[in-house]
Amino acid sequence: MADAQALADILDRLDGRGYKSYGEIRGRFEFQRFGLFIDRVQADPFASPSKLRLRVPMHEAGLPEALRKNPIRRLALADFLARSFRDAIFAERKSLTRGSAGQASRSRSRSGSGSGKSGKIFIDAGGQEVLERTAIKLTPDWVEARIEVGLPAAGRRILGREAQRLLVEELPQLVEAGLLAEHLALGPMQAFVECVENQEAIREQLEGSGWLGFVADGAILPRATGASDIPMAESEAVRFHSPESLAQEVNLPNPVGQEGRRRLRGMAIRHGITLIVGGGYHGKSTLLRALEAGVYPHIPGDGREYVVTASDGVKIRAEDGRSVSGVDIHAFIDSLPGKNDPNQTRSFSSSDASGSTSQAANIVEALEIGSRTLLLDEDTSATNFMVRDARMQQLVAREHEPITPFVDRIRELHDRLDVSSVLVMGGCGDYFGVADTVVMMRDYEALDVTREAHQIAEEASSGRAQEARAALEAPAARSPLADHFVASRGRRDENVSARGRELILYGEESLDLRYLAQLADASQTRAIARAMRLASLHLMGGERMGLRDSAPSLSQVLDALDAILDEEGLEALDRAEPGTRSERHPGNLARPRRQEIGAAINRMRSLKTRPAR
Ligand code: ADP
Ligand code: MG
Repeated sequence: MADAQALADILDRLDGRGYKSYGEIRGRFEFQRFGLFIDRVQADPFASPSKLRLRVPMHEAGLPEALRKNPIRRLALADFLARSFRDAIFAERKSLTRGSAGQASRSRSRSGSGSGKSGKIFIDAGGQEVLERTAIKLTPDWVEARIEVGLPAAGRRILGREAQRLLVEELPQLVEAGLLAEHLALGPMQAFVECVENQEAIREQLEGSGWLGFVADGAILPRATGASDIPMAESEAVRFHSPESLAQEVNLPNPVGQEGRRRLRGMAIRHGITLIVGGGYHGKSTLLRALEAGVYPHIPGDGREYVVTASDGVKIRAEDGRSVSGVDIHAFIDSLPGKNDPNQTRSFSSSDASGSTSQAANIVEALEIGSRTLLLDEDTSATNFMVRDARMQQLVAREHEPITPFVDRIRELHDRLDVSSVLVMGGCGDYFGVADTVVMMRDYEALDVTREAHQIAEEASSGRAQEARAALEAPAARSPLADHFVASRGRRDENVSARGRELILYGEESLDLRYLAQLADASQTRAIARAMRLASLHLMGGERMGLRDSAPSLSQVLDALDAILDEEGLEALDRAEPGTRSERHPGNLARPRRQEIGAAINRMRSLKTRPAR
């Protein structure tokens, strides 16, 4: 098998040749402590960088067995290693730019100043969330880093010596610093893995305890700035503290803190209806946003690492302008003006939904795919969707109002459909009567004001009449029609790809995901794009589910997708067909939730559905 020297020799030979000749280095090379797979070579210095894998046998890596003993530990360890490899890249670059004069030419091109992406090395490590991702693959026998490298060039000529230094000298150093236990910080690595396992243990306890969320004492909820996801400085932030009446304890598999406790106190949010009230700027939205983010585990030091939310929690907001296809929103909106058909909103479509219809569609779609936990904030809700007060009810008769406001459905959502809501509402007391728990934020401190709020609701009637016309039913399921997922652009090639976190290009359509608050990472967006393609090609026909002549519902499609991802890993999204095998760099992917995959499908302008059987 070719070794590092063979690679060095080829690069010697390629020096000064046209960039295309880099194609000759594709293949596998055995280094001393790892195998290098060069899977894809970029076509020119400006194209997306080349895709390489570095595979280290486990006996070389020496990663402690204890940190690999169950799936959640492996997920956390892989996430940690991606970060440590990224740190190694940064550290390496820093030491190079500080190099002596003799190294000047080295440091120039290494820091990426050749043409295009020359000399750049990249690994797709995460942000504040800990996600399953393709950047690091762990098997019992080896650990593999999937990286991207800009092969060095001057103009369009190969810089063979630079490439040698990069691939033959620098990569081994990065492997040592980033993947080998002998060079890794074992303490932080263990703490990281244990912290993530603790978070998942809390998530498991939620269900059995009748809770949908847990906010630990001591958590730092606010972020550094509106545009940043890192925690506010400890000197400025007020740490969370649960009111006594709502405090509960959870058990942890691994010790935390200096005293090594295995129990954590915090505020438990029960199933049912929880209202978060308080004056403007007192920290209400910050608490809700922490719960939104709590569907994912977070890194130690995030401040929200012990804020844990049921994994099906969905942020619901108004999203005017979004496209809606065939959604049964009649529980919230019926008898639209000018439409004689009272059943029109049982299958509602719009290419430009209003604030209230979009919010209704967002709720119904969440229920349709099985979510039982809704998170809402007055800041991002449509006012007329949330409530119609007594005075407005007097002025505008019920028969002229298509909207049944959320306040008149929120109880039924829980009592009939087992759907819980957490709602930030500082501006309207009409929800006091329907809430099970009312938490007040005052100077960033949480207070239990349930009793006071209920008393006010009893003593001072809001004067409102309840407006639901008929009992709430579970929304009808829809089947997405595969034929309408057109990946080609006219007669041109297929194009399904992501642009950053917020945009997917699907054939001729650009799909706007900006308002999916719980889409955490651009690599999730990439994965969603591929998941949509896979689902439309292989799942929506129903063959894999043993359905003959009826198309599966969207929820069934998402079940099947989850099963494939559980079984085959994210690599399944890189294959032409599920179940087939391929061994190559799968691209930079992170696992999305079914909620976000479903949300993306639901926002397609070309989506067509029919009622599912
Ligand atoms: P509300 O929704 O009640 O109007 P926000 O949650 O938007 O308030 O918070 C207002 C401001 O206070 C934000 O800038 C936020 O970063 C800051 N903040 C929120 N919680 C805390 C806290 N625990 N400690 C310090 N600052 C906080
Ligand atoms: Mg707010």
